[in-house]
Amino acid sequence: MKPENGLAMSTARRDAPVTCAPTKMSTESSPSAHDPESWVYFDGEFKQYQDVHIGLMTHALHYGTGCFEGIRGYWNDENVQLYLLQAVAHYERLHQSARILMLDLPHSVEELVDTTVELMRRNDYRSDCYIRPILFKSGEGIGLPYARVEASFGIYTTRFGKYVDTENGIRCTVASWRRIPDATVPVRAKVTGAYVNSHLAKSEAQRAGFDEAILMDIGGHVSEGASENLFMRRGDSFVTPPVSSDILEGVTRRLVMELVDEALGLRMEQREIDRSELYVCDELLLCGTGAEVCPVLEVDGRPVGSGKIGEGTAQLQRLFFSAARGEDKRYADWLRPVY
Ligand code: PMP
Repeated sequence: MKPENGLAMSTARRDAPVTCAPTKMSTESSPSAHDPESWVYFDGEFKQYQDVHIGLMTHALHYGTGCFEGIRGYWNDENVQLYLLQAVAHYERLHQSARILMLDLPHSVEELVDTTVELMRRNDYRSDCYIRPILFKSGEGIGLPYARVEASFGIYTTRFGKYVDTENGIRCTVASWRRIPDATVPVRAKVTGAYVNSHLAKSEAQRAGFDEAILMDIGGHVSEGASENLFMRRGDSFVTPPVSSDILEGVTRRLVMELVDEALGLRMEQREIDRSELYVCDELLLCGTGAEVCPVLEVDGRPVGSGKIGEGTAQLQRLFFSAARGEDKRYADWLRPVY
């Protein structure tokens, strides 16, 4: 995307909305072409993207020894404001991931949020955005002693549109790949190397013509989407798999649970879900930072409920998006304004 003449990109071009076609995206980490001149944060400094270089022998590239986060920023035109959704919760999870991987993250949660705000301001974003902090073993060489491989920390940001088609809903299939069990790779840490599991499942689903994969846990119960947590409605209850189903403990999952409980007034249950319940439930949705709150209209060729977006899901979407965009003052504490 670097302009031929090497001039800085115009503000107009930076602010143009980027919409990502749902089925053309391979993973959550490939949102759009990046701007080489955008500001990033790397190892204690603000730099341009094009000035960060990572070596071929980087430990994390070979062994997946890193952890990361995905955070969304929602632009509100009327308020002329960019809101970071749940920035604190995401950075708390990054700290937990670092602790599990025994990586040193040399910034407090507050410092990380402040650095992100500064980065968004430097990039002067006035559109929806995505933020990708990453902490990884950056030592280079073969046979490095594990404990002494040094770590690097960076934050990348970009303008960002839709990851999946939340408006029309998506079609899913149950993957042949099982969700990694916590006994092999820690599931509540957002580990870079673990995403080979999501990648295999999602690629398989998309090659078969579906939008997204749903993974079973190693015991055969429903775990989650390739990069989303899962909720179904059966009668008066919304149900989501418990943490013991090897899910990533999603930030959006917690918000959806809060909305079901407080705003919808329906029962919210965490219990194991059988595969065949996906075929007979009344409503199904996937949620995550990328996927937001997304209705699932079909699983393995069976329509979910009426095959249309259900009322519970539609209500959750309305509540979620108005909260995220700073329109519903009841949820102001979900957000960190940038400007
Ligand atoms: N599961 C996986 C495997 C994910 O990658 C994500 C996205 N981070 C989620 C669930 C949803 O988590 P969150 O709501 O925190 O984005």
